Amino acid sequence: TTQTDAVIIGKYEVLPIYKPRDPFSHKGHFGHCLVVGGSYGKIGAVILASRAALSSGCGLVTSYIPKCGYTALQASFPEAMVITDNDENHITDIHFEIAPSVIAVGVGMGTDYKTISALENFLKHNNTPLVIDADGINILAKNQSFLKLLPKQTVLTPHPKELERLIGKWSDDFDKLEKAKAFSKKHDVILVIKGAHSITVYGNMLYINSTGNPGLATAGSGDVLTGIITGLISQGYDALSATVFGVYLHGKSADIAVEDYGYQSLIASHVIEYFGAAYLDLF
Ligand code: AMP
Ligand code: MG
Repeated sequence: TTQTDAVIIGKYEVLPIYKPRDPFSHKGHFGHCLVVGGSYGKIGAVILASRAALSSGCGLVTSYIPKCGYTALQASFPEAMVITDNDENHITDIHFEIAPSVIAVGVGMGTDYKTISALENFLKHNNTPLVIDADGINILAKNQSFLKLLPKQTVLTPHPKELERLIGKWSDDFDKLEKAKAFSKKHDVILVIKGAHSITVYGNMLYINSTGNPGLATAGSGDVLTGIITGLISQGYDALSATVFGVYLHGKSADIAVEDYGYQSLIASHVIEYFGAAYLDLF
């Protein structure tokens, strides 16, 4: 075992991280998020993550999706720009002429063999900060040689099953944290162990989140978290601050939202609508 420092994250821990907005700012100050993902039948994941990124405060968002999602994305989320892959149903080639501040990869993406090679080629040439979730994590778990292609401090946001694929089975919670710390150190990645009281792991540090509730146990809530962390990195928060703050805001938004929706009826789209309330609650 190794030394561990743990801190519980509440309002007074995130307040010093928070960056107020300059009254003279313009959208160019808040960065441009690129969200890469989706496959036939799972374009909604990209819509949720992209909307969450913009609603967290980034300046611009572009969604990179297979052709089949074009109309759905543009119609349901007019603020986004869209780049389509050459393939109808899958991501097969990640190339773009924009210069994003940060890239989220993986939500709704599937693990088609063409998608796996597209991700490998992309990682070989990419230097932009990354947030990787869902099938992006599943692909890394099966192709661990890709891990050495990640930029430093890439954020990975696995749910329990994805975490197990990535770091292997654990015997108990203590062993899980030891394995997560070792993985974080070996690959220089920030790991969010999602669940009730999500834990952000970076090296020997553990940041234990105090917000969130079982209303978040619903389709798409992880996609919303990916978007918020990506949107915060875009605004100039370093990857670790963005992750700790993003996990807090995601949970806080859900805590305020359940007062209106109840645990059973809360859905991921609602959570995004409460980001503003979570920001305002800081003061
Ligand atoms: P995913 O499984 O990828 O959709 O991610 C689920 C999200 O909801 C993560 O951010 C979890 O931390 C959060 N979540 C799920 N269940 C709970 C719970 N019982 N309490 C608090 N947060 C939860
Ligand atoms: Mg997920």
